[in-house]
Amino acid sequence: MDAFSAEELFTKENGWAYNDFIILPGFIDFSPDDVNLESSLTRNIRIKNPLVSSPMDTVTESKMAIGLALQGGIGIIHYNNSIEEQAGEVRKVKRFENGFINDPIVLSPGHTIHDIDEIKARHGFSGIPITETGKLGSLLLGIVTNRDVDFETDRSKKLGDVMTTDLVTAKKGISLNEANQILKNSKKGKLPIVDEKGKLVALMSRKDLLKNREYPLASKDPRKQLMAGAAISTREESKERLAALVEAGVDVIVVDAAQGNSVFQVEMIKYIKKKYRDIEVIGGNVVTEEQCENLVKAGADALRIGMGPGSICTTQTTMSVGRAQATAVYRTAKYARKHSIPVIADGGISTIGHIAKALALGASAVMMGSMFAGTNEAPGEYFYENGVRLKKYRGMASQEALEAGGAKRYFAEDTKIKVVQGVSGAVLDKGSLFEFVPYLIQGLKHSFQDMGTKDMKVLHENLYAGKLRFELRSLSAQLEGGVHDMYSYKEPKYM
Ligand code: GDP
Ligand code: GDP
Ligand code: 5GP
Repeated sequence: MDAFSAEELFTKENGWAYNDFIILPGFIDFSPDDVNLESSLTRNIRIKNPLVSSPMDTVTESKMAIGLALQGGIGIIHYNNSIEEQAGEVRKVKRFENGFINDPIVLSPGHTIHDIDEIKARHGFSGIPITETGKLGSLLLGIVTNRDVDFETDRSKKLGDVMTTDLVTAKKGISLNEANQILKNSKKGKLPIVDEKGKLVALMSRKDLLKNREYPLASKDPRKQLMAGAAISTREESKERLAALVEAGVDVIVVDAAQGNSVFQVEMIKYIKKKYRDIEVIGGNVVTEEQCENLVKAGADALRIGMGPGSICTTQTTMSVGRAQATAVYRTAKYARKHSIPVIADGGISTIGHIAKALALGASAVMMGSMFAGTNEAPGEYFYENGVRLKKYRGMASQEALEAGGAKRYFAEDTKIKVVQGVSGAVLDKGSLFEFVPYLIQGLKHSFQDMGTKDMKVLHENLYAGKLRFELRSLSAQLEGGVHDMYSYKEPKYM
């Protein structure tokens, strides 16, 4: 056969980076639209698009996590903040879309329009059921929505005087499908669900039907809430943080450490798996089979791969420990597959081609920081430098982030002298995640088509059967593969 199998290429003395090799084309008998990118994020979580955002304070808070989850990926909320702040971000993601809202915010007739204004400012919605006691499980009297109060100038008016009382409701026990049908037919914005005594047990919102229609690939839990991930450190005090995140509804926890093969991580993973059976745990970061083995034994549901390839990272230079990313992904994915555990290629991805290569080497998903840091949905404001529109992006072990509390990932919190393992700087404006992600997905589908594989399962089967062929690229091959011999040209917005 022409060229080399991955096994041949990635067992030699060199460690290879994504740019060092190329994948040979396969046979095309389908269109890019036939490509299915569905993949496993962890042992028990499937996502429609294999894109994950890094738990970094310039990358993932609720806006990023909502944007990615709506489009079939998932965001991991960072922990360089207070426990309340991180749990609050998770809660915003979980509240964004619902099937039945089982814990709706409820008020009593004695509350005022002013209370509605406060809820609107804090949570973003204003359709509030009114019950006798102002609590769930009490007799439903009416509902107040925006239309009941938007033209009212006296905000101290009691809700009992403005609420709508002629309600369409549904009975407890109804299926989501049937309830959706009533909601559609009623032409109302909300559908309260009541028990046989008329007591409120849940609420539904028409808005969610629209969200579901607009984002059919969204990553959702069985309650139809968007999935949210959050990171914690391996330190003992993270247990309190973990409890708050679970309470907020988190679906997956990333145990975040630059070098994941430690007794602290093993114990943290065991603790989480024992105490919270339904929470999926991603361990890491690791780059060798030996490291993987310890975390797999501890019970990790997925592994995060990468030590030093990150765009903001100085670990390999400073510490001389790590591994070239393509080799790391191939070796760890091959090991983890024997245990049916997916791996996530983390860091060093700056083009669609890198995503395709990571998946072709066995990763089930990719985690990215710099790719997402320039989008509207990343935390922080845009600024201009030499007329160029930029957004701040920093490593969690940069001087700046360490000072703001980011040292937990590097076992460095208690040491007096903090060794920096990352830089802070800026990335180009990328516009909205809702334009950028569809572009990434479409590009990825074209790449799958060129490789001649319709989905992730076939891709990985071809990889391990040696059917997917690889070749190293000489330096001149790399130059040849880039743009050259142009007097001038305009870089495309996305690559
Ligand atoms: P399933 O995964 O095969 O159950 O299919 P879906 O999750 O797509 O949908 C199951 C039912 O739930 C369908 O009637 C959907 O319209 C409905 N559904 C899905 N997501 C939501 C949502 O966010 N809110 C509401 N109200 N209904 C939803
Ligand atoms: P509203 O008319 O101002 O209440 O807002 P919409 O109906 O347009 O949107 C409400 C959105 O917030 C839906 O996606 C709900 O699933 C979500 N949501 C989450 N928790 C609650 C809640 O306690 N009450 C309400 N009304 N909506 C909630
Ligand atoms: P990027 O996608 O920007 O290339 O890399 C993002 C990844 O780099 C993160 O997911 C995380 O694993 C890693 N990372 C984040 N901050 C730092 C840092 O300060 N130092 C190092 N060594 N790695 C970092």
